[in-house]
Amino acid sequence: MIIKQIKSKCKRCGREASSNEFTLDPVYKMMVCPECVKERKQAQFTIAKQKAKAEALVEPEQPKPKKEKPAGWDIEDVEAEMAYKKKLAQQTKVEAVGGGKLKYTCPKCKYEFVAKDGKKPLRCGYCGNPF
Ligand SMILES: [Zn+2]
Ligand SMILES: [Zn+2]
Repeated sequence: MIIKQIKSKCKRCGREASSNEFTLDPVYKMMVCPECVKERKQAQFTIAKQKAKAEALVEPEQPKPKKEKPAGWDIEDVEAEMAYKKKLAQQTKVEAVGGGKLKYTCPKCKYEFVAKDGKKPLRCGYCGNPF
């Protein structure tokens, strides 16, 4: 005796399949035929593949090129520059105050005095720091 397979129509695609082949699909949330499951899996695979392809196309962020240091640049030059700047800061500040007068500021004690004849004094009149 041949048991006639009961055919059911898939609610999703309308195809006919053996009723025992129908499965409750977690994505469609309904009983679908094996063809629908196959289609869904194929579609998901394609989406995943396209996503992977799209991600691969996104260029990795290029690290910014490091600023090229001038030739012969090293830490000693920096120290020398800093020492030079420090020396400059310690130099007597001279400001023209009008009338041919120059105002000197002692780098040591910050004492300010105006040289009437415009000549730079040899030393600070306050702390004796030589200029
Ligand atoms: Zn179907
Ligand atoms: Zn001084």
